Amino acid sequence: MDLQKIIRPNIWKMAPYSSARDEFKDAVGDFVFLDANENPFDNSLNRYPDPMQTQLKVVLSKLKGVETNQILVGNGSDEVLDLLFRAVCEPNVDNVLTIAPSYGMYSVLANLNAVENRLQLLDADFQPKVEEILSKVDARTKMIFLCSPNNPTGNDIIPEKIVQLLENFDGFVVIDEAYIEFSNQNSWIEVLNDYPNLVVTQTLSKAVGLAGLRVGLLYANKDFVGILNKIKPPYNVNVLSQAKAVEILKDYDKVAAATALIVEEKKKMNEALKEISFIQKIYPSAANFILIEVDDANSRYEQVLAAGFVLRNRTKDPLCKNCLRISVGTPSENEALLNLLKTL
Ligand SMILES: *Cc1c(COP(=O)(O)O)cnc(C)c1O
Repeated sequence: MDLQKIIRPNIWKMAPYSSARDEFKDAVGDFVFLDANENPFDNSLNRYPDPMQTQLKVVLSKLKGVETNQILVGNGSDEVLDLLFRAVCEPNVDNVLTIAPSYGMYSVLANLNAVENRLQLLDADFQPKVEEILSKVDARTKMIFLCSPNNPTGNDIIPEKIVQLLENFDGFVVIDEAYIEFSNQNSWIEVLNDYPNLVVTQTLSKAVGLAGLRVGLLYANKDFVGILNKIKPPYNVNVLSQAKAVEILKDYDKVAAATALIVEEKKKMNEALKEISFIQKIYPSAANFILIEVDDANSRYEQVLAAGFVLRNRTKDPLCKNCLRISVGTPSENEALLNLLKTL
């Protein structure tokens, strides 16, 4: 893959902002910091954060089996996805392709960056139609976005289909793995070194339980990650977020136990939902939510809301007519919801 060909010319040539902490990296030793115009009085947050999130990347590197220079950390997945657009898509010239139904942010970011989004409907099993996708892309298509497990449908994308896209498309294949911890599939991070055009995004917002922290992650080949690091806002992940992320990830057994409990709960809910008469279909889910098809999504949504439960109404999404998406809650929340559904 010729990186210079896919990166926007202005980005390729751009010199990054050099922050005080970029110019002084020597972390060992006892120094007096008079280089960044900070307030010198210690209140635990008076210093700028590490722009390269070094400690967090060391923890992630061990956890994920990648080099630290293959990791980009952002202020949520939203930021890392936006950086992708800004790095490779020339506004009003380049385009991307996304699948539908899928996560809404891809279209929003395409729009925001004045980039055409070519939508490709999934098939009846919510799998990508590889041949149609490949016939829709052209020399100006810079990225194909996939999401596995997919939101809002919940299914894994069949690995062979992803390989076909990786092997037959010149631009980046971006796989959003926001829900990968709940799935039995392996992460695509494991084959990062085999595909220079593979980009994987993950998040601490779902299984790791830190949605309020805003930490999104991107894994790709180190040269591309170097370019993304060059264009990101220098202090994009704050001191508290970096520290809390390190603390929670160091105790990953706890995260894994919570993930296992959520998966167990999902299985129980799946069985119980089969007994509810107005539910017409329960889609198989590899994530921490279940997509169901009901008789009338709008009225069921309102009925459940009146009883104090907020579901996600996906009836307007393509292929999702009369579908509601239910996140798996705590055991008692799930039980309460199921008890309510039985009475409707
Ligand atoms: C929830 C979710 C994310 C997470 O976004 P953050 O900005 O990291 O909180 C990313 N992708 C998908 C598909 C999601 O459903």
